Amino acid sequence: MFVTRPQSDYHINMKRKSTLQKWLIAVIAIIVFSPLVYWLTGIGQRAGGLSAAVVAADGTLHNSPKAEALHALVLPIRIEKLVVYPVLMFLLQFSGWAVRWRNRIERWTFRITRRENRWTRTLAAALFIAWVTVVITVIYLPFSIYGFVLRRQFGLSNQTFSAWGRDFSVGWGLGLLTNWVLYGGLFALINLSPRRWHLWAGAAFMAFAFGYILLEPVVITPLFYKITPLTDEALRHRIDTMAARAGITIDDVRVINASSKTSAVNAYFTGFGKASKIVLWDTLLKNHPPDEVDMVIAHEMGHWVHRHVLWYVLGGSSALWLGLFALRWWLNRVWRRMGWRSPGDVAAYPYLLGVVALVSALILPIANGISRAAENQADDFALKIGGKPQAAAQMFERFAVENVSMITVPEWEKIIFYTHPPLGERIRKAIGE
Ligand SMILES: [Zn+2]
Repeated sequence: MFVTRPQSDYHINMKRKSTLQKWLIAVIAIIVFSPLVYWLTGIGQRAGGLSAAVVAADGTLHNSPKAEALHALVLPIRIEKLVVYPVLMFLLQFSGWAVRWRNRIERWTFRITRRENRWTRTLAAALFIAWVTVVITVIYLPFSIYGFVLRRQFGLSNQTFSAWGRDFSVGWGLGLLTNWVLYGGLFALINLSPRRWHLWAGAAFMAFAFGYILLEPVVITPLFYKITPLTDEALRHRIDTMAARAGITIDDVRVINASSKTSAVNAYFTGFGKASKIVLWDTLLKNHPPDEVDMVIAHEMGHWVHRHVLWYVLGGSSALWLGLFALRWWLNRVWRRMGWRSPGDVAAYPYLLGVVALVSALILPIANGISRAAENQADDFALKIGGKPQAAAQMFERFAVENVSMITVPEWEKIIFYTHPPLGERIRKAIGE
């Protein structure tokens, strides 16, 4: 007699995994080919002939046709990345690929080193993180190249492909190093202190963030740009005058040679306490009259006075602490079912990347809301201390042209994606409408 046996858990699992592997391959295909779809729309190819002007004949402001075109491509790209990236990570995990890769890399490491101990296991974990980074980079390579093409099409980049490739490679190396420190460190802490790792990890992240902010202008920016102290004496004098009015001393202003790569304009404030700095792109100094430069610096002084960077690190780290607490609870619940050896198994790396991406996407409206509030505060400060509202409005108009930015966007888009208030809002505030 022929008796069919009920399918074992193992077989159900294998079936589920092979379905998920098909999904994984479909998602990879979507990511690899969608840049081609964006390119085939022809929007980018026509960008060169579009006007970037934002002031109409009657003096009113509107989105330039060029900014509208860029926006028509960038918004779907942003949404796609936000949704598809976590899906890719979860599929890498649930299809069983992550565990399989981890096993293979371990066997291979043990064979080559002829040892199986704590050190070779750590080496295998580091290699696994590097391998996952390589896989993600390869899957997203068409997107990275398309980003370069898009910036060239819209006149935002004057780099050659090889110069871009060099920057991309350096950035990739930095990214891998960061992943090793952050995620490798996280897995190490989970294994060293299974009960309290979330506390240590929160403290370690805060130290990392402070260290990164202090080192960034000294170590990382010079990998991409020449960064030099401000030499313009007249501007230096104007800065000192404004700073005196604000009751602060600004001793560190630097200029980076952004014009070697782009015609876009920017400036930023970084650091805290004695290590505070204002960094200006040379494109700002070259293409804007002194009054406008003053208003940009007054804005950055606003960030300085309100200690925005310090609050950002402290607030971000506190939120992260809560997140780590929840993560510990969650990992302890699921690790067995996921086929991991412990909650601190490096095979969980893609899963963690997915969780971080998903949570970051969900809290985007909150994080960006806080960022926009800080930017508003800096704008208010600039108008109070700089006192040149017309120059501020002029500057924002010029920004919209040079950076091919939108003057207005739908409210939902502002809430989710905008770290700064849209330029139209900033202009209206400057001229007191
Ligand atoms: Zn700002």
